[in-house]
Amino acid sequence: MTQTDTSALMEITSRPPIVFTEGQGSWLTDSAGKRYLDFVQGWAVNCLGHSPKPIVDALAGQAARLINCSPAYFNEPMARLAAMIAEASGLEQVFFTNSGAEANEGAIKLARKWGAIHRGGAYEIVTMDHGFHGRTLATMSASGKAGWDRLFEPKVPGFPKVPLNDLAAVERAIGPKTVAVMLEPIQGEAGVYAATDAFLRDLRALTKQRGILLILDEIQTGVGRTGRMFGFQHTGVTPDIMTLGKGLGGGVPLAALVAKREVMCFAHGDQGGTFNGNPLMTAAGIAVMEELSRPGFLAQVAETGAYLADALAKLSQKHGCGGVRGRGLLLALDLERPIGSQLVERARDKGLLINAPRPDCLRFMPALTVSKAEIDIMIEVLDGVMAEVAAPAMAK
Ligand SMILES: *Cc1c(COP(=O)(O)O)cnc(C)c1O
Repeated sequence: MTQTDTSALMEITSRPPIVFTEGQGSWLTDSAGKRYLDFVQGWAVNCLGHSPKPIVDALAGQAARLINCSPAYFNEPMARLAAMIAEASGLEQVFFTNSGAEANEGAIKLARKWGAIHRGGAYEIVTMDHGFHGRTLATMSASGKAGWDRLFEPKVPGFPKVPLNDLAAVERAIGPKTVAVMLEPIQGEAGVYAATDAFLRDLRALTKQRGILLILDEIQTGVGRTGRMFGFQHTGVTPDIMTLGKGLGGGVPLAALVAKREVMCFAHGDQGGTFNGNPLMTAAGIAVMEELSRPGFLAQVAETGAYLADALAKLSQKHGCGGVRGRGLLLALDLERPIGSQLVERARDKGLLINAPRPDCLRFMPALTVSKAEIDIMIEVLDGVMAEVAAPAMAK
């Protein structure tokens, strides 16, 4: 238990009575000195692990030089990071935001502006069942999360939903009011369900043919998570608009709206924000992009991901669970029974942090720098916990 008084905090979710005080690499320490192996990493945010030297140095150096000069002026880190993202993605224009939801709001606004100019006022964006795009009013409306359709009425209109990987349904949903199709290359919050490479290629062809935009929400899949810099790079298709977040700041609040030059139609005053593109956060983003661009870094992510997937598959077989889903270091284990939260709690008691996005699956989003030895420890702890929890369920 903790002596920290948390009662002034709005209770917006259930949290265990733990207060974390330190982190290093794949490990967290709480106020009682207990250590935890972290396979959540700030929700796939700390791509280089906890307090990595490149980010600590970038933040300290930039903080001493210039923290904020107002979004009304250029600063060096903002310009440099935008150029790095443009170069890596092939999309030429970048606008920085402070959260993924804000980046997606920007994507929705940009698409609607583009529709107003080029598609006779079209504004509808076709999105996917079970998709997740954030917690602002518009991004909740764009999301297809179960139970959200009745929350915070009235909804922002203009987000017809279709099943993932169903091209015919997308075709049926496209009409004269449609301006774009928006989806995650892999649905993370839904439980790690991938858009197939074929579906993404077909969508690209379809949107091109109909003269509408393809928007990829790469907030979870981008910035190295799948073993490539961006998830779309596995498929050979390029979106018109992409959003980044989570890993981009390596732990600090930084996200981005990225678009092709010919799509960028914001006029002065359409978009902005007090903290957007501040030099402190963008300096951290530069440190992340530099680390990920080192020769062999992304290949290492792919290799570590394959190692983790293999270990999870063996564990699954041993305990009679289902398949392993995902790519790179965004993986899920299908439990085939609703024991996710039980496993999460018992693992935490034993010093392992994992996540159950749904009752019947576990999600793994470790640091991209996680070692095989750390994966071995994680598997060993999870094995023990599964033996405790899963055994009764299997005794049919
Ligand atoms: C996390 C996430 C978001 C929301 O990002 P926030 O920074 O929490 O606003 C949006 N889309 C996807 C795919 C995400 O994983």
